[in-house]
Amino acid sequence: LVEIHNVHKSFGGVEVLSGIDLTVQPGEVVALLGPSGSGKSTLLRTINHLESVDRGSVTVDGELIGYELRGGRLHELHEREILRRRTQVGIVFQHFNLFPHLTALENIVEAPLALKRLGASDARELALGLLDRVGLADKADAYPRQLSGGQQQRVAIARALALKPKVLLFDEPTSALDPELVGEVLEVISDLARFGTTLIIVTHEIGFARQVADRVVFLDHGTVIEEGRPADVLDHPKHPRTREFLAKVL
Ligand code: ATP
Ligand code: MG
Repeated sequence: LVEIHNVHKSFGGVEVLSGIDLTVQPGEVVALLGPSGSGKSTLLRTINHLESVDRGSVTVDGELIGYELRGGRLHELHEREILRRRTQVGIVFQHFNLFPHLTALENIVEAPLALKRLGASDARELALGLLDRVGLADKADAYPRQLSGGQQQRVAIARALALKPKVLLFDEPTSALDPELVGEVLEVISDLARFGTTLIIVTHEIGFARQVADRVVFLDHGTVIEEGRPADVLDHPKHPRTREFLAKVL
C-alpha cells in the first residue's frame, strides 16, 4: 500500500535520509523506532509530502505522492493535486494541532467540508460517529482548551480519520501527554490496528510497539538498519546500534 523507494533527503548539505526503502502492506502496523535525529519524523513527513524528497519516490495505493513522472523524471505536482493526494495519508502529531477556536466536532468536519467531500449534515454525522469511536461522544461541543491532552489527541485522531485516509501516520502521539493520559490514546490506536487500519507509528513506547506492531523498523542516521517482527527485533536485536538503543529505552 505504501511504497517508499530509495528516498534521500538533505537539509543544508547534511543527509538526513540516506536511501530509505520500506513497503507497508494494507492493514499492516509498522512501528518506526530510532534515536533522536535519526530521521523518523522527516521520513513520516515525506509520506504525505510535508517534506519534499531529493531522490527516490513514495507511492500510496499506486499513486505517487507529491510528484508525477514526466519524460522519465519526477516533477513536483501543482499545489491542488499535492493536496488531493495528501488526503490519502492522515497524520497525527505529538502536539495535537487542533484549531483552538473550533469545537471538537468543528475540528473534525473542517476538512471534509473544505474539500466539499460531504454536505453539512453528512459531515456532522460522520464526525459524531468518529467521536464515538474515540470515546468522546459527549464532547462534540467542547473547545480544545476544555479537553485534556489525551482527549485532544483523540479528537486529532478522529479528525485525521475524517478524510478516510488509506494510511494513518503517527509521530510520537503520546510524547506530549501526562503519563496517566497515555493509555487512553494508545487504546484508540490499538483499536484502529485491530480493525485493519494501515498504520505507521513513530513511538518510544516500546511495550506498545511490541503489542500492536506487526513489524518494527529501526532507523539510524537515515537508514533502516534492522527490521522484523517485534519479538525478533526487540528481544534479539542483531545490530549493535539497535541493541544500544534498546538498552537505553527499555
Ligand atoms: P526525534 O526522535 O528527536 O523526533 P527524529 O528521528 O524524528 O528525531 P528528524 O526530526 O527526522 O529526527 O530529524 C533528522 C535530522 O534532520 C535532525 O538532525 C534534524 O535536526 C534535521 N532536520 C529536520 N528537519 C529539518 C529542517 N526543516 N531543516 C533543517 N534540518 C532539519
Ligand atoms: Mg521526530
